[in-house]
Amino acid sequence: MAFQHLTPPREGSKITIRADGTLDVPDDPIIPHIVGDGTGPDIWNAAQPVLDAAVRKAYGGKKRIVWFRVFAGEEAFKQFNDWLPADTLEAFRQYIVGIKGPLTTPVGKGIRSLNVALRQELDLYACVRPVYYVQGVPSPMKDPSDMNIVIFRENTEDVYAGVEFQAGSPEAKKLQDFLVKELGVKASKFRGSMVGLGIKPISEEGSKRLVRKAIQYAVENKLPSVTLVHKGNIMKFTEGAFMQWGYEVATTEFREHCVTWAEVQEKHGGKVPAGKILVQDVIADNMFQQLLTRTENYSVLATANLNGDYLSDAAAGEVGGLGIAPGGNIGAGYAVFEATHGTAPKYAGQDKVNPGSVILSGVMMLEYLGWKEAAQLVRDAFQKTVAQGLVTYDFAREMNIDPIKASEFGACIIANIEGRKTPIAPRASASKPRTTTKKVVRALEKATGARALAKAAKGKKSARRATPAKTTGKAVNRAHAKAKAAKGAKKATTKKRR
Ligand code: NAP
Repeated sequence: MAFQHLTPPREGSKITIRADGTLDVPDDPIIPHIVGDGTGPDIWNAAQPVLDAAVRKAYGGKKRIVWFRVFAGEEAFKQFNDWLPADTLEAFRQYIVGIKGPLTTPVGKGIRSLNVALRQELDLYACVRPVYYVQGVPSPMKDPSDMNIVIFRENTEDVYAGVEFQAGSPEAKKLQDFLVKELGVKASKFRGSMVGLGIKPISEEGSKRLVRKAIQYAVENKLPSVTLVHKGNIMKFTEGAFMQWGYEVATTEFREHCVTWAEVQEKHGGKVPAGKILVQDVIADNMFQQLLTRTENYSVLATANLNGDYLSDAAAGEVGGLGIAPGGNIGAGYAVFEATHGTAPKYAGQDKVNPGSVILSGVMMLEYLGWKEAAQLVRDAFQKTVAQGLVTYDFAREMNIDPIKASEFGACIIANIEGRKTPIAPRASASKPRTTTKKVVRALEKATGARALAKAAKGKKSARRATPAKTTGKAVNRAHAKAKAAKGAKKATTKKRR
């Protein structure tokens, strides 16, 4: 289909999908991008030069991205009177891989979320969210460095499929009658006739393709486990089926790579055989506490839509919040990477907010293109810049240092990519990440009354497991402030990302 309003770049080439589903990426791929609403321009203007600098440095000019600006959201509405123009969908379809900033979801205007629309139109069925700790980032956890997971969330089904009927509507009434009269559901399950109803479709095809992608990722990246997260104890035919179909994929399509938890118990004396990926399942509510208490035991999670939505934000919060959480929506070759936070409209145009989420989404995109060297350059420079205390307001307020602008943050990352002096001098206090030390532990103990926290001074891991949930939230902040006032914070030991 030809474009109606947009003119694609004259230079650059198209990415194509080979017959086996892999990508054929030219050295000059055309990548459509949506800048986004609200703070979208602030973060994009800081992020794009970082990605370009990394590609330049990694490949000495042999490779480059040819950006193709397309529109959605408020800007598209202003220019084309359309929140999601056909041209934009066509660009993502033709050029296969793209990236986007946050978009305003118009409230009460009767149109769907643009993000959901994009995912559904392009059948981007897997929402992929890596969650890992960047040293120096303020976190509510005692040892956030244990977090290093990738969440594969099903993107098209579940209660998010949008099959809902308003309480009192003829449709809801009809469905309720049908359930009672035709399917033998007890009438007492419904409290009167004013009941909103929703349908939770979970299909074999939808579940299997998601779990297949998650296991494939674990195989390609030599990761130790894939955990199927579900609530199958209660919702047996939806969430329970998701788990069963997931195990089926593991034991039929990836037999040589995988061993299930049951097999480990029955045949391998409780030990995962060397070189095998453990496929296990964990009930969703337990998964939330496991991510706090046994974080390091998890690697790849595969979840249905709703569970994954909650889990990915909670996990991101544990390593410092959505400001730097990257994401990608991936289908059969097609992929749109995106900043996971919203448009933060109150900061729009101030060159203030953290561009980390879109930069790290760009890292995911570079990896997806197979440009791993460039991706690693950005990742390393990003980490170095944060460790230098060169951070935007959101981290700065937690670290008690002066913030720099979004564009300055980008410029400092570029300097670190290129091995130059940063345009702004590193902040001296930045080498003190806000994680637990003896003094913080003592203050925490006082603040929460949690006895086991005392153990953290001796062995941070055992104490971490003993009292995980109580160490988050306001008590921690108060304790940190107290410990800081006592001039205490020692450098915490942090592990390198695997
Ligand atoms: P939001 O835009 O994510 O902002 C909520 C708060 O998160 C901000 O006030 C700010 O906290 C913090 N924040 C967000 N982005 C940040 C960044 N880059 N750096 C540092 N801090 C950041 O959520 P919202 O206010 O609920 O949503 C606003 C609009 O965004 C809505 O129209 C919503 O529909 C849309 N939205 C879009 C997407 C998407 O496109 N993917 C996702 C979610 C929401 P402080 O005030 O504490 O500094």
